[in-house]
Amino acid sequence: MPDRTALSRRTFFGGLAALGYAGAVTPRLLAQGTGGQAAAATVPRPRASLADYDALAKLSSNENPYGPPESVIQAMTKAFKYANRYGYPDGDVVQAIATHHGVKTENIMLGAGSGEILDLVGWALLEGGKKVVGVEPSYSSVYSHATTVRGEAIRLPLGKDFRQDVGQIVKAVKSHYRDIGFVYLCNPNNPTGVIITKAEIKSLLDGLPEDVPVLVDEAYHHYVEDPAYATSVPYVTEGRPVIIARTFSKISALAGMRLGYAVAPPEFIQRMRRYSTGSINALVKWGGAAAIKDQASMDKVRRLTVDLRERTIADLKALGYESIPSQANFFMVHLKRPVQPVIEEFRKKGVAVGRPFPPLTEHLRVSVGTADEMARFIAAFKTLEARAAL
Ligand code: PLP
Repeated sequence: MPDRTALSRRTFFGGLAALGYAGAVTPRLLAQGTGGQAAAATVPRPRASLADYDALAKLSSNENPYGPPESVIQAMTKAFKYANRYGYPDGDVVQAIATHHGVKTENIMLGAGSGEILDLVGWALLEGGKKVVGVEPSYSSVYSHATTVRGEAIRLPLGKDFRQDVGQIVKAVKSHYRDIGFVYLCNPNNPTGVIITKAEIKSLLDGLPEDVPVLVDEAYHHYVEDPAYATSVPYVTEGRPVIIARTFSKISALAGMRLGYAVAPPEFIQRMRRYSTGSINALVKWGGAAAIKDQASMDKVRRLTVDLRERTIADLKALGYESIPSQANFFMVHLKRPVQPVIEEFRKKGVAVGRPFPPLTEHLRVSVGTADEMARFIAAFKTLEARAAL
């Protein structure tokens, strides 16, 4: 299979260079495939000044624009006195996560962002040229990392209504059974925001050979309101070969602090641990322990985000543009023309939007920012449309 990742990486860096951001990120960062670095790379650091960066409406990396809740700031501030210690005290974060999910501590592994967890699964399960099966577009760091560890990615097209076709995934696994390292499901999917329903997950797990591991990336779990969705954590408790990746980067607004975790059967945790660098900072462990207990703050961010997402989608519809119904803190609007030049036009107007996600090259991914940022996005959209730049 041709290395499409390498190709898209080249195109991407070419795009950055054209924008005058050469040197802002290096191919090595993307090759490492760590999620946060890859995500951060979509907002190149402006050369001019921090003030210019601050002035940007940052709708490109699916971040939480509100910042961490007070409970998290307080916990991290108090923990500063332990900044001189290596691994302990740690706010008992692993126990807090295990309690939250009703699992044992041996089912939990921390990572410097869930990007590290995704990489560790790649290191542990793709050894010897194994394959990961998933859809495209999805969170492509998983596929680039597969290339890095000399594995391979089988990328299937999205099905009807931009859904992940679980029947096709089962079929692909069965036809490459001996070579499969794991199946990757992003739920809800980035960049579309579309969920895989709990019934679809069940039919996938029941349809797969029972020893095929499934990695379910639930980075955007907290934003979902559709009752047809459910977390796949109970499958771990059931003893299935399922690994869940979660992050504190999104709903808990700790993207820059780097904390995520896996919930998995202990045998997978042990295999992944062999590759871990243990590079999690002392403060964020306390932040994570506080964040996971602060349900009220998570609910507040979800309500604000969903409300703004739906209002923006309605505004775009009134202008004649359809969006893919989303269950996450971003959505894709169909521009009916290639998005790359439009992305550049938005940036000139001080609005950073998502990069292209082939093969959906006419859909623009927009993260949900603050009310002010969304108003600036709509204002820029209207101006560009009036200039026929859309
Ligand atoms: N998974 C998905 C689907 C993502 O969109 C991201 C980041 O945007 C990540 C994982 C990695 O996030 P982090 O490493 O910050 O936890």
